[in-house]
Amino acid sequence: MLRMTVRYKFSLLTLGLILPGILVADEPVTPPETREPTSVETPPTPSPEPEENTPPPKPKPKHLPLPHLQGSLEFLPEEERNLFTPGIDVGHVRDNPANPHRRLVQRTIMQTELIPAWGAVLTFDDQLIPFTPQESSGISVARDLQKANARGIFFANVPGVSSHDVRRIIRKNSSSEKRKLACQELLESKRAIFVEALREILRLKNSPPLPHQPTTETTQENFASPPPPVYYTCEVYNHTAFHQDMKTLKPGSDQLALCLQGISFIEECLDEAYEAERPGWKRTRWFRFPFLHAPKKKAVKKEVIACFNKLGLLSLGETQDSKDVLNLNWKKAYESLQAAKKHRRYNPKFGGVYSQADQPIALFHTKTWRKVKKGILKAIPAS
Ligand SMILES: [Zn+2]
Repeated sequence: MLRMTVRYKFSLLTLGLILPGILVADEPVTPPETREPTSVETPPTPSPEPEENTPPPKPKPKHLPLPHLQGSLEFLPEEERNLFTPGIDVGHVRDNPANPHRRLVQRTIMQTELIPAWGAVLTFDDQLIPFTPQESSGISVARDLQKANARGIFFANVPGVSSHDVRRIIRKNSSSEKRKLACQELLESKRAIFVEALREILRLKNSPPLPHQPTTETTQENFASPPPPVYYTCEVYNHTAFHQDMKTLKPGSDQLALCLQGISFIEECLDEAYEAERPGWKRTRWFRFPFLHAPKKKAVKKEVIACFNKLGLLSLGETQDSKDVLNLNWKKAYESLQAAKKHRRYNPKFGGVYSQADQPIALFHTKTWRKVKKGILKAIPAS
């Protein structure tokens, strides 16, 4: 049986450092106050004696996220859970309308993931089901990660469709209503195969860490103890149905309407697959823009925010680079992951490490897994 090999670099200190940083990523950090030294030290004022019947102040409960709940709402502190609740407008960063809308902030960390011992969260984008036999599938990535007792995060499109289909639907149908119907018909034709692919990935489990292994003692206490928690190998999130470049979409256009229709369809399929494989799992709803391109136009942003509020989506935003599709050999994949560990970005086209990433999140392409996996598995050695 595989033993848990993932050790998490995690502590209350890192939680305290990371979480506030995510929520106020656009806010400058206030330096700690400095105090001028004084020549004469004032003796400390003695604190008053506590009154006899005053109960001691209750310690503030601290939120300790549990590793097996990664990816779920329960992993987050109470005040963070609204970010993924459908139907709720979560407003702006620090509730200031001048700040970016919280759903679209280009967050570079997932609050719902711990940084594993090898130093970076592994994410994989695009189709889960390949077009050709040369391409890899999401389930093959997931199974390889499971063997390494590692964890992978997928951002999925609907299989077998692309932005060409959106253009074709618009060309062949004269009204918005007909286009919407044709789009839904195409999406529905993929529902069963997509949900099955999601379920296959979502049901994979990793081995629990050592403290949860059953002991040989057969005390009454052991009989009464709850079963060990389940550690899932993967999560799957939304990358739009058709992988359109959302930067180029025009406000009020049918291209935008079909894009949002596809995003809703993915959420429906994810809900169905999670409910079937993990009943009662309180899932989070991350979103990554295709090509890492967020909309530029204010009016488009408004439509996208309305859709995200309705569905409870939150943008993960930029991580390493949008050239994941060009990462075609294991050496570059290894370099890319090494760069991610150091909070750097990496462009596989030029083989270059550059710029900064707020957090170590590596980005790979699902379909090129066969070509890059040796490098990735080398960079996440079992310990
Ligand atoms: Zn993509």
